[in-house]
Amino acid sequence: MAHDTTTAPLAFSFEANPSPRSTEEVAEILANPGFGNHFTDHMVQIDWTVENGWADARVIPYGPLILDPASSVLHYGQEIFEGLKVYRHADGSIWTFRPDQNAERLQRSAARLALPQLAVADFVESVRQIVKADERWVPSAPDTSLYLRPFTIANETFLGVRSAHKASYLVIASPAGAYFTGGIKPISIWLSTEYSRAGRGGTGAAKCGGNYAASLLPQEEAYRNGCAQVMFLDGETGTRIDELGGMNVFFVRNDKTVVTPELTGSILEGITRASIIQLLQDRGYTVEERAIGIDEWRAGEADGTITEVFACGTAAVITPIGQLKSHDFTIGSENSEPGEVTMSIREELTDIQYGRREDRHGWMVRVDG
Ligand SMILES: *Cc1c(COP(=O)(O)O)cnc(C)c1O
Repeated sequence: MAHDTTTAPLAFSFEANPSPRSTEEVAEILANPGFGNHFTDHMVQIDWTVENGWADARVIPYGPLILDPASSVLHYGQEIFEGLKVYRHADGSIWTFRPDQNAERLQRSAARLALPQLAVADFVESVRQIVKADERWVPSAPDTSLYLRPFTIANETFLGVRSAHKASYLVIASPAGAYFTGGIKPISIWLSTEYSRAGRGGTGAAKCGGNYAASLLPQEEAYRNGCAQVMFLDGETGTRIDELGGMNVFFVRNDKTVVTPELTGSILEGITRASIIQLLQDRGYTVEERAIGIDEWRAGEADGTITEVFACGTAAVITPIGQLKSHDFTIGSENSEPGEVTMSIREELTDIQYGRREDRHGWMVRVDG
C-alpha cells in the first residue's frame, strides 16, 4: 500500500540484534567515544518505491547493506543526510533538539536531489525508534551525546541517467564524546581561493554527500597549512564569505551587531545558525543576515569593529575562530582567546540542550519512554 503522507504515520517493526554488545563493551566505548567511531546495535530502515511510496519501516540489527553494484547511488551520487544529537539530562531522561527542523531540511534536500520526501512525523518517529532500541548507548558524561545520522540513498539497479525509482532512508547512531577536551581553543581556518563548495543554482543549500566530496581536497590543503577547517567564498565572485565545509560563520561587531552571511542558495541553512540568531536577538543584538566580504573582515579586524568570529554546527556547537590564513595574507592571530559573546552563547545553547536552562522556545523534544 502506498504511504500517503497525509495519513497515519508509518508503523515500525522491530527485530532485536541477536548479539548486541555486552554491557562492559558499551561502558568501555562510552568512556571514550570520540566521534563517528562506534555504532550502536540497531539501525532504522524504510524503503521507497515510485509505485508504492514509503513502506516497511523497521528497526533491525546494525550491519552492512547489500547493494547491487549497479545501484544508482554508487554512480550518480544521489544521497542526502542529516545530523542531530540526542542528549541525556541529569534526571536520566533523553531529549533531542528541534528534530522537526532536521526533518524539513531533509525534505528540502530530497527535493533538490530528486529523492523522495519522508513525512516529518515519520522522521521524528524514526528518531524515537532508534533511541528506544539503543537507549543504553546514550552517554551521560558532560558534553557527550548520541549522534544520529539519518540519510537517504537512491537504491535502484539501473545505470540510466534519471532520478531513481527506488530509495532507502536509514538512521544509524554513534556515541559522541565532548568535542573539545582540555578547554575551548580558537581554531585557524584556511581560505580556499581555488575551489568553491557551491555554485549558482547548484546544491549548496542541500545537505548532500556530493558537497562534502568536493570539499575534501581543499580540506587537505587546509591541513597542510596547519588549519583545522576550510573557509569557502561564493562561487560567483570569489569575494563574499559563504561558510566552512560543514559549519556556518558569525562575525560579532563592537556595536551590538552580529553579521552572518545571508542564505543565498549556496549556504547550508544550519539549525544551530538559526537558533543562535534567535538567542542573540533575545539578548538585544541586531543580527544582520547579509553579504559580508573577505575585505570587510580584514578591515574590521584591523580597526577593531569585528571583535569575535565563530563557526557553528551540530557537531561542535560553536567553535571560536582565531585566525584566517591564505596564500597572501593572515587575519587575526593563532594565540587569541575565545570571545565573550562566543562563549556565553555557546553556554546558553548547550545549557538548553542538556536541560540546565529553561527551554523558552520549546526546542527540546523528549524521545524516551
Ligand atoms: C550540516 C551543515 C551545517 C550545520 O548545520 P546544523 O544544522 O547547524 O548542524 C553547516 N554547513 C554545512 C555545509 C552542513 O552540511
